[in-house]
Amino acid sequence: ALRLAAQRQEVNELLAPLRLTLPDLEKVQALMRQEMERGLGKATHANASVRMLPSYVCNTPDGTERGDFLALDLGGTNFRVLLVRVTEEGISMASEIYVIPPPIMQGTGENMMLQMLPLGFTFSFPCQQVGLDKALLLTWTKGFSASDCVGKDVVLLLRQAAERKQHTALKVVALVNDTVGTMMSCGYDDPKCEIGLIVGTGTNACYMEEMKNVGTVEGDQGRMCINMEWGAFGDNGCLDHIFTQFDKLVDESTINPGKQRFEKLVSGMYLGEIVRQILLEMTQRQLLFQGRHCTTLQTKNIFQTKFLSTIELSNGLALRQIRAILQELELDASFEDSVLMREVCQAVSLRAAQLCAAGLAAVVEKMRENRGLDTMSVSVGVDGTLYKLHPCFSQNLQKTLKELAPNCNVTFLLSEDGSGKGAALVAAVATRAG
Ligand code: ADP
Repeated sequence: ALRLAAQRQEVNELLAPLRLTLPDLEKVQALMRQEMERGLGKATHANASVRMLPSYVCNTPDGTERGDFLALDLGGTNFRVLLVRVTEEGISMASEIYVIPPPIMQGTGENMMLQMLPLGFTFSFPCQQVGLDKALLLTWTKGFSASDCVGKDVVLLLRQAAERKQHTALKVVALVNDTVGTMMSCGYDDPKCEIGLIVGTGTNACYMEEMKNVGTVEGDQGRMCINMEWGAFGDNGCLDHIFTQFDKLVDESTINPGKQRFEKLVSGMYLGEIVRQILLEMTQRQLLFQGRHCTTLQTKNIFQTKFLSTIELSNGLALRQIRAILQELELDASFEDSVLMREVCQAVSLRAAQLCAAGLAAVVEKMRENRGLDTMSVSVGVDGTLYKLHPCFSQNLQKTLKELAPNCNVTFLLSEDGSGKGAALVAAVATRAG
């Protein structure tokens, strides 16, 4: 019993840095707010970790949009081509999906652009937009590194690639970030949807900001959707106090160390890796597997983020499922090991959801202040497999958001195919506006 108590204490100490208090989260919220202000300001923009990029999308849909649109979607695991038809009856779509092989993802930009010939463009990477159809790629994220693209106008690259292939009918109207597409696709059904959120491979958000607050674009009238690029929050060191030894190890093993620091605490590409690092440490400290040596866990990405979902879903007898997963990984886990692993997964996914909530709280509170309201109702269009499939992520996010932004009544809408439908709607709204 004494040994068990000592083990329990060691586990608690190991996990303590991952457990954030309400004041911790309030501080993250305040830091996000501060970075948002800096990102919007003309003079401070260049040094902000949250880049607050103008999207040149100034209206959400009003339901009068009509027509046929093509959309290309590049930014995650797959590359898709979609045909989107917007009619009085609603929106219908046909799509084809292509998996992007890593040699293409990290090969030459020329080659990658050739892989995605036809049409209009959801491009889920940070771009400096100077118009709806002109966007300089600032940096790749999420494991992409194709050459000769950073600093270039990706719409132009697409047009040139299309020309080389003699796809002369292609007319790129708009470049759309996936967050903006998600907001627009949900905005078609709910006019209160003025925020877009992604929690998938990566994480990011956008929202409707007052033009008078956007120091980086001329003009003071109306609003513009701002692509926050919040995945990079903390790249200036402002979140260092919440990074654990495990987060640092995960960061160091990525192709972009020191970058996308917030994303690496929150999104699907990294949560499994954080858990793996904790389990490795626990194995070394003989807190798992009765101190037996274990080499499997040393393989990068072996512990997938979808395992968190399965493991956290299991209770009581279903703990057997955990052992089945672990056996697949050739880990021979006892009942106690399984319980401990579930605790690790819960700590990691809870922290991710809470940090995401702190970011969102900064957004909704800013919007409420912008509009001079005591209380505000707003909807958030959400996409991303982690948000959609993890059994507790969305509840934890919503619960924490209520605590951090009690004066905002926030409704979450699941986006169905936001990046395709949304890109078409951006094109449609642009056409509508003349
Ligand atoms: P993308 O963001 O690339 O468009 P997704 O939204 O599908 O793609 O997110 C992919 C991410 O979701 C992957 O990082 C993967 O680890 C994670 N994921 C896949 N299945 C699950 C699941 N069942 N539970 C939680 N996360 C998952």
